[in-house]
Amino acid sequence: MMQSVLILIKPDGLKKSLTGNILTRLSETKLEIVAAKIVRVSRELAVEHYKHLKDKPFFDELIKYLQGELHDRRKVMALVYWGKDAITKCRQLAGATNPEEADPTSIRGSYGRITTSGVYENAIHVSANEEDAEREIKLWFMPEEIIVDLYPIKEIMQEKRKLKCWD
Ligand code: UDP
Ligand code: MG
Repeated sequence: MMQSVLILIKPDGLKKSLTGNILTRLSETKLEIVAAKIVRVSRELAVEHYKHLKDKPFFDELIKYLQGELHDRRKVMALVYWGKDAITKCRQLAGATNPEEADPTSIRGSYGRITTSGVYENAIHVSANEEDAEREIKLWFMPEEIIVDLYPIKEIMQEKRKLKCWD
């Protein structure tokens, strides 16, 4: 089944200079990268991304983690991979959520750790299923930032909208 999946290299992954290693591991899947960018994560974006965990005791720490406040590295790398069984393949390479339970050869097993406050710093986010992938891709990317048409779009005219452009 052709699927798309949102991948985030989280701030610990960037701080530890793991971008190259993680992208190399993901390239084993032979999936296609259809979008990529570096993002400064606002609190609103982090809360929306992890809203399914908002009642968990570690939620506040998790939001700080995704925003890069725990690593003095306020950015994540966001990518969309597309291809056959993309979600299953990427989740498999990422490994289990808890880095201590993850297969030691997986990305999280290799590079993750549990902080003293109990948050799993696991270097990478991978959408869990097709429904989550669609929600997350639409949250992190605008249609023009993705080189293929993944989901239906609409075109709207907007007046009096302030835009930044090159001078
Ligand atoms: N997380 C955590 N403690 C937990 C569960 C989750 O710190 O007991 C963090 C971890 O960074 C994880 C993220 O919250 O990647 C999102 O959790 P989810 O259950 O969605 O796991 P994932 O889909 O990332 O494997
Ligand atoms: Mg999840």
